[in-house]
Amino acid sequence: MSHLIVGTAGHVDHGKTTLIRALTGINTDRLKEEQERGMSIELGFAHFKLPSGRVAGIVDVPGHERFVKNMLAGAAGMDVVLLVIAADEGIMPQTREHLDILQLLETKKGIVVLTKADLVDEEWLELVQEDVRAQLAETFLKDAPIVPVSAPTGKGLKELSLTIDAVCAETQARDASAAFRLPVDRSFIIEGFGAVVTGTAIAGRIRVGEPVEILPKQMEARVRNLEVHGKDVEVAEAGQRVAINLSGVSRGDVERGHVVAARGSMQPTKMIDVKLHLLRNAKLPLKDGGQTRLYLGTAEYLPYTFLLEKREMKPGETGYVQFRFDEPMVCARGDRFVIRSYSPMFTIGGGIVLEPHAKKHRRFHEDTIRELKALELAGDVLATAETVLRRAGAAGVTLNALRQSLATTPEATAQIVGDLESQNLVRLGGGATPYLHRAIYDDLCQQIISALDNFHRKAPLRQGMPREQLRAALPKELNAANFDAILAALQAEQRIVAERDIVRRAGFVVTFTDEQKQIADRLERAYRDGGFSSPDIGDVLAQFGPKRELANAIFYSLVDAGKLIRVADLVFHESVMERARQVVTNYIRQHGKMTVAEFRNLTDSSRKYAVPLLEYFDKIGFTRRVGDERVLREQKGQ
Ligand code: GDP
Ligand code: MG
Repeated sequence: MSHLIVGTAGHVDHGKTTLIRALTGINTDRLKEEQERGMSIELGFAHFKLPSGRVAGIVDVPGHERFVKNMLAGAAGMDVVLLVIAADEGIMPQTREHLDILQLLETKKGIVVLTKADLVDEEWLELVQEDVRAQLAETFLKDAPIVPVSAPTGKGLKELSLTIDAVCAETQARDASAAFRLPVDRSFIIEGFGAVVTGTAIAGRIRVGEPVEILPKQMEARVRNLEVHGKDVEVAEAGQRVAINLSGVSRGDVERGHVVAARGSMQPTKMIDVKLHLLRNAKLPLKDGGQTRLYLGTAEYLPYTFLLEKREMKPGETGYVQFRFDEPMVCARGDRFVIRSYSPMFTIGGGIVLEPHAKKHRRFHEDTIRELKALELAGDVLATAETVLRRAGAAGVTLNALRQSLATTPEATAQIVGDLESQNLVRLGGGATPYLHRAIYDDLCQQIISALDNFHRKAPLRQGMPREQLRAALPKELNAANFDAILAALQAEQRIVAERDIVRRAGFVVTFTDEQKQIADRLERAYRDGGFSSPDIGDVLAQFGPKRELANAIFYSLVDAGKLIRVADLVFHESVMERARQVVTNYIRQHGKMTVAEFRNLTDSSRKYAVPLLEYFDKIGFTRRVGDERVLREQKGQ
């Protein structure tokens, strides 16, 4: 049977804690101060065996307005809420505020419990019920059962248990197949055992012995022991109240607001994109750039607000917003949150995380809005993954980053990628290389093809476009490895040819006119004859007089083609280069090594040519310098 958390909500003194004690026998006001003052301050925890046999975890929250922050930490984990309203008082300010919070957090189900029924007569009870029904008409509790109870007489408790059971039975459980995640609500040290954290597991499952991570600080720990409802267990799951005994953690390392998650499943962030709804009863419009209090999971953060759609959001409005944090925080796509005004503190709105790892956006801009809308509307995990890939653009997304972006398990990520692979996904090689969205990939290919076509048209004498020049013409997020991988793919499809740092369209050949051919021959001859004492480029070109420009273009064409080779600011003919290689190979094979002076003598040149040539040989991996001498670099297969 799946696991669920039942929580309380409602105004202070309306009988929440008394109700839980009457249902479960557990007093959730465990602090001395709480017992002395007769008022809940902190979250209280219990568990409850329902008539069906299902055991529900219970979270009892404080109702006092000073402790809304604690209530928020408890509300985040609730599946079914008992909205407690004292029959003699009816709906009060914190009843409303709690209701707003539950509504913003999209709590799934609830029951209205009218406590203190013994203090009012039947007629009054009916009036209160009508009033409550009317006031809940526009909330998720509009069709919720209303159950009157009395703690001292026990009236209604049996019926309430059955109602809780029925509502739980129709409530969808949290996803136990996702990556494990538990927002910490308490942490303490037990002498002899070490650090213990408690919280509601909101996703996945965890086993004794497994590695976990404490976020956002990214501290690694291991599960030493697990406890659910006071009993040791081997496995704990989403929807359970769990106490985790962690090894590798000391006093002060973990506190409320931290998240214990499957190792590697989440990445902290300092910028998130959200869809935010401002409550109609928020007293002021939300201003751009202001600081707000944001409650997510059991944490409270103080981000700055950047409105993406307009400069001001009025009460009752909904829009896309970016929150920026001074310190790293952690959240997952789809998480719900609440915001409260910075000072004085009121609940003013809340919403859903659309992008946990956001970038800075152009604001008040159509493309930004369109992308966020796509994320918002992406119905399932596949559509979300696709949108994430699309937004990543030419940078792509690695398997690991996709997993963290979706806060899911490696298995689920592999499944998603498998499902997307045939249609929407291109993988640029093995290992940690990223996936690109098919549309982005196709677009990059198209950009490469048109850049090459353009180049050929503008420089018909060049053999092709220098690789780096081509890369510079593409989006800058495309890193070198991805660029190489795309070129390799295009080459395999025989759409391009990439050789010697030159890229051209397949089928493109430079055709020289007779005149151009003569110039090419003259250039080649000049360098062939020059031998190891390579002539100066400027001097060679000067000989062409008015045809200097053309000769220059043909010179580059010969360099592209590998006929002429540039070595630092010198140029050698390929035949000369080949001779130099022979000289070096033969000499080193005979003598084991070679100095610059020896090479200079053998080639009858001077240091001016010998030094750059040998350095070039080092650079291309033909020779290796050892002290003042060269040896041959061992080549594979020799
Ligand atoms: P909480 O702040 O909502 O947790 O309220 P408590 O459970 O602490 O109850 C506040 C006061 O109301 C206590 O004095 C309780 O004894 C009293 N109380 C709670 N439930 C009932 C009830 O059903 N009938 C009556 N007569 N008193 C109740
Ligand atoms: Mg209480």
